[in-house]
Amino acid sequence: MDKPKILLVDDRRENLLALEGVLRADDRTIIWAESAKRALELLIEHQFALAIVDVQMPEMNGLELAEMMRGSDDTQTIPIIFVTAGVKDQSLAFEGFEAGAVDFLYKPLNERIVRSKVKVFLELDRQKRLLQEQIVQLETSEANLLSSQQALAESNAKLERFTFMASHDMKEPLRMINSYLSLLNREIGSDLSVEQREYIGYAMNGAKRLYHLLESLIQYATAKHVRLDIKKQDTKAIVGEVLLDLSVLIAERKAHINVSELPEVDCDRMQFRQLFQNLLSNAIKFTNGKVPEIKVEGAEKGDEFCFSIHDNGIGIAEEAKAKIFEPFVRGHGRREFAGDGIGLSVCKQIVERGGGRIWVEGNEKGGSTFRFTVPRVVRPEQVAVASSI
Ligand code: ADP
Repeated sequence: MDKPKILLVDDRRENLLALEGVLRADDRTIIWAESAKRALELLIEHQFALAIVDVQMPEMNGLELAEMMRGSDDTQTIPIIFVTAGVKDQSLAFEGFEAGAVDFLYKPLNERIVRSKVKVFLELDRQKRLLQEQIVQLETSEANLLSSQQALAESNAKLERFTFMASHDMKEPLRMINSYLSLLNREIGSDLSVEQREYIGYAMNGAKRLYHLLESLIQYATAKHVRLDIKKQDTKAIVGEVLLDLSVLIAERKAHINVSELPEVDCDRMQFRQLFQNLLSNAIKFTNGKVPEIKVEGAEKGDEFCFSIHDNGIGIAEEAKAKIFEPFVRGHGRREFAGDGIGLSVCKQIVERGGGRIWVEGNEKGGSTFRFTVPRVVRPEQVAVASSI
């Protein structure tokens, strides 16, 4: 911190010399002015911690100088100590200044009082400057934090865009690998040993798994960035369409799915199809040989709609309940249940973009109940989320 500067203003040089003699110390700089006019010039050049101003001066007196200092943004906060002869009838003239950072010294000056008053003002100035430095530091670190958060958000968005594009572009060559492997298998499969045929089988399986993974990544990136088309939708009809899409799986597992009356809600139809599709296919998938018994419910609750998908499947361990909504987190091994751990994270994106919440609970059938909410009133800024894909 720079040394604080004190301005002494008096038309009489001997007074200035005397005052400087009393106040001189290493921790401060003292600058004088022999007139109010000269003081105004110095006030432009320097930043003062304190001005000690003689009231009686020719041309412009100390009160007029103080008046001018109060009128300028740069000098209005400088504390002033008026030096006065202490004549009673002058008290009226000081009335206007009493509210500000103002003090008085009476002639003849008492050295001890002069020093202690100046010490108080210099300490105040030090505190003020310390506070200002801290504010600047705080503002700088806040600005840095904001810009690094922004940079992080931008790089995440870029990464997601890259994932989307790369996944899209990788699907075609992968399809080719798979087709040519099938062709090879068909043409020369019968000439190969059992082991060689197995190798081709592994390669085709790997290509198929990679293809599904790319599909899931595309689904994940799309859920977050695609432009929403929010309209009133009949969710029972959406569930009906999803059940039709899943009819092969439903028939395979002989699943019983009971859908109660469902409300109309404001949502993006494609996203809600995806949401129900992921939740229902999981409910069918995560069973242990049992016939899947699934119930879909939805009703208005206060200022939101609440949907539930109950199953009688294998259930979810308490400690996994929050984690399974994160991307790539799986609660069960791939050997038992195929999948890549993206489905529920897509559901979370969809629900949260609509302003709702999603969670899972256990139920009395030993299975799971997935619940999600949709606000009755969708905020316009959600609909306005710009597409970056
Ligand atoms: P995936 O199904 O590909 O594993 P998800 O994101 O859909 O990915 O699910 C994450 C994990 O949550 C699953 O691996 C599974 O352990 C658990 N899970 C999801 N749905 C159910 C369900 N209905 N019953 C039991 N566990 C489930």
